[in-house]
Amino acid sequence: MILAENRVPFGPIFVPENDFDKYNSQVWFIATQLRYYLARITTAPFQIKVDTNQGENGLYIELDKSYLDDEFSINTMGNSVYIRGGKRGVIYGGYELLEMLGCRFFTPHCEKIPTLTKLEIGDIQKREKPVFEFRDTDYGDIQKYSKFASMCRNNGRWSGMPEMLGGSIRYALGAHSFARLVPHEQYRDTHPEYFSFYNGRRQSIKDDHWQLCLTNPDILDIVVDNARKILKENPDKKILSISQNDNPYSCQCENCLKSDADEGSPAGTLIKFVNRVAEILEPEFPDVMFDILAYHYTRPASRKTQTRHNVCVRLCASSTCFAHPYDKCDDRTRAVKHPNGKTSLFIEDLIDWSKVCERLYVWDYTSNFPLYPMPFPNWRVLQPNLKTLAKYNVKGVFEEANCARNGGVDFNELRTYLISKLMWNPDCDIERHRKEFMQYYYGDAAPHLEEYLNMLCDFVERENYHLYIQDTKRPPYLDDAHLEQYNRIFDKAEAAVAGDGVRLMRVQKARLSIRFADVFWNEVLAGNYNAEKINQFFTDLRAHNISRLDEWTNIERTYRAWMDGMERGVLYTAPFRYDAESLL
Ligand SMILES: [Zn+2]
Ligand SMILES: [Zn+2]
Repeated sequence: MILAENRVPFGPIFVPENDFDKYNSQVWFIATQLRYYLARITTAPFQIKVDTNQGENGLYIELDKSYLDDEFSINTMGNSVYIRGGKRGVIYGGYELLEMLGCRFFTPHCEKIPTLTKLEIGDIQKREKPVFEFRDTDYGDIQKYSKFASMCRNNGRWSGMPEMLGGSIRYALGAHSFARLVPHEQYRDTHPEYFSFYNGRRQSIKDDHWQLCLTNPDILDIVVDNARKILKENPDKKILSISQNDNPYSCQCENCLKSDADEGSPAGTLIKFVNRVAEILEPEFPDVMFDILAYHYTRPASRKTQTRHNVCVRLCASSTCFAHPYDKCDDRTRAVKHPNGKTSLFIEDLIDWSKVCERLYVWDYTSNFPLYPMPFPNWRVLQPNLKTLAKYNVKGVFEEANCARNGGVDFNELRTYLISKLMWNPDCDIERHRKEFMQYYYGDAAPHLEEYLNMLCDFVERENYHLYIQDTKRPPYLDDAHLEQYNRIFDKAEAAVAGDGVRLMRVQKARLSIRFADVFWNEVLAGNYNAEKINQFFTDLRAHNISRLDEWTNIERTYRAWMDGMERGVLYTAPFRYDAESLL
């Protein structure tokens, strides 16, 4: 079928009357996107018209309530094309058609759009839905550009999509919500017994061990009342997390210990509690899910109590090696065990949780959080790990990343693109996606950068080096001899795109990882302080709009800390506290 030839479109883009020119209509949004991109391909003046059931040739777009929110179909019939879908799916369907026509949406600022005088398509009969119902990542481009998040088919909290884009699945309370649900200042003087017992006394919010005492009967009423209030104030948010503070110490009072022992894990005590909250609030909030974290002391699954149908669990893959796939790593020295030669501790948790929870989400990690720019050679585990999650029937994935709002180095753009493709379909042809991205985004530098990335991955595989998300020791693949090799590769990569300003800038941005390793370990930690090298590094970070070198603070604080002989600026702030200045 010819869609356009010599600037003549095959027909209009038809939308139902109630979507026509409506700001919040997803159908109208994708119709305008198709008009824009089809014109970019062909320069043909496509028009959007109301569908009056005349059966004319054209591109028909329609919301279909019988589809899942993220599901879509594209069908050709006669001389027309039909896109149908749920509130987000109908938009994905439009972008899918454009991708089938050769468009690629690599980053918010890098799109590959073919130009043709004759645009043709063959017969299309496809219907798609995602493997994971919840797909979230906090890479800067996803946070900042919700249209791009929609192109990447992210639908979680960080995509921040407005109604026009079908909205996101948002948390009314995200994680570590005990302090919001039982305000410490309100009860600390009158009811110290509401808070966890540890080291011989009830804990206060200033203690590192502070949690709630979930077996205290009053706590249930307080949490129900506050959860109700929060859900009423946030009618658009459909998940509320009831999860412990970010420390590994559960309540050690007699009742809690008895419950933990009975359940085989403190997770069971938490599930029993959250099940009650979910049961009480279900009649008022039938479409809300209540979430718990399987993290630190709640990571091992309950052996007894199952989660209710409106309770979901987020299992955190912390303390897991990311150099090797979940089910292949043999590290015995860290948190990852290999007890039977076949499975890691995380796989055991995954299996155990899938037995007691119908709706299991996983909180996965893709970066080194104290050293954001450090090369993190996890490229070859991305697909196997997401395939593993799908195999164990996981329903949602959050891929926690370098969450600096302005993005980061270490190929964050490629990571965003590939991880999004894998969250939609873990069985996708990831090699094709990777090659397409590299060849277009880095141009003639691509083969050199591929060589660099392969060297990193080959090293961790060959040497069986394990990779964790909080390591600050210098990895052997970043010793001086390796840095020298990488620098030679980057010299070639820069030379290959010397006449291509945009791609040269991208290569130089990727090179900041190598420069970071050199400045951090050879200058700052070694006490050398080559002023020219350090200043040039920070000048270039600012030029590339890089705002953070770690999870917790901005580059100016890092600079200050380095000058003061410290490893990072986070030492200036209390742990787990964020201040406005650091949220750049
Ligand atoms: Zn207790
Ligand atoms: Zn490993």
